[in-house]
Amino acid sequence: QREEEQIKLDGLNVAEMKELRAKAQKQEFVAEVNRMMKLIINSLYKNKEIFLRELISNASDALDKIRFLSLTNKEILGDKEELVIRVKADKENRMLHITDTGIGMTKDDLIKYLGTIAKSQTSEFLTKFQEAQESDNKQSMSDLIGQFGVGFYSAFLVADRVIVTSKNNDDDQYIWESDSNSFTVVKDPRGNTLGRGTTISLLMKEEAQEYLEEHKLKEIISKYSQFINFNIFLWTSKT
Ligand code: ADP
Ligand code: MG
Repeated sequence: QREEEQIKLDGLNVAEMKELRAKAQKQEFVAEVNRMMKLIINSLYKNKEIFLRELISNASDALDKIRFLSLTNKEILGDKEELVIRVKADKENRMLHITDTGIGMTKDDLIKYLGTIAKSQTSEFLTKFQEAQESDNKQSMSDLIGQFGVGFYSAFLVADRVIVTSKNNDDDQYIWESDSNSFTVVKDPRGNTLGRGTTISLLMKEEAQEYLEEHKLKEIISKYSQFINFNIFLWTSKT
């Protein structure tokens, strides 16, 4: 796929990313995750902006988890005491990065939570959503999304590829990457650059470039972040 040729991260150029990918073993999503992704992509295309609400809410959950653990064990925060969310738009490379200093994911977490187990409520959601879709009940569809949350996979509404870099205290830093058909997980050759936490990097689709614009990001973030208890910093490149 052509879009692979454009992916680079800080300190990892296109060729190095390609080499990493070549070494990694492709893994398949479980059937329910595949169904969920298809459904999200086919029915929420008019509601693309919810991807940011979902990713910020995941970042906030991860920050809540580390904060909770730190109440009984202050050491756990290490030198990453600041609990924040950073959103960075990189227009030149068509990428949007959402970083948190939350609990992070180990290699096993990345495989499990982002691909090989379906959320407990997924089945129920899929059934109800399909019913609402068949009866063309738009209100009910958006209620269901609000009620269940569609989660991480909504990233594919706006991104051709999603790269998750994560560092949990119990493991090395790993890179998860997917084009929504399959995924790979590799140890990060850069070592531990995050300290602790997660960066979700989105290679934005051609038709989703507006989400790299400062005003658009500001608008969405302020709409959805009222109930987020952590600071959110927005950084956008000019070109
Ligand atoms: P939900 O948030 O309802 O559990 P999601 O699809 O949004 O479902 O996310 C799936 C799981 O992936 C989360 O439960 C969490 O374990 C993991 N995850 C996603 N984003 C992050 C993140 N930024 N930091 C740590 N874990 C995350
Ligand atoms: Mg979520």
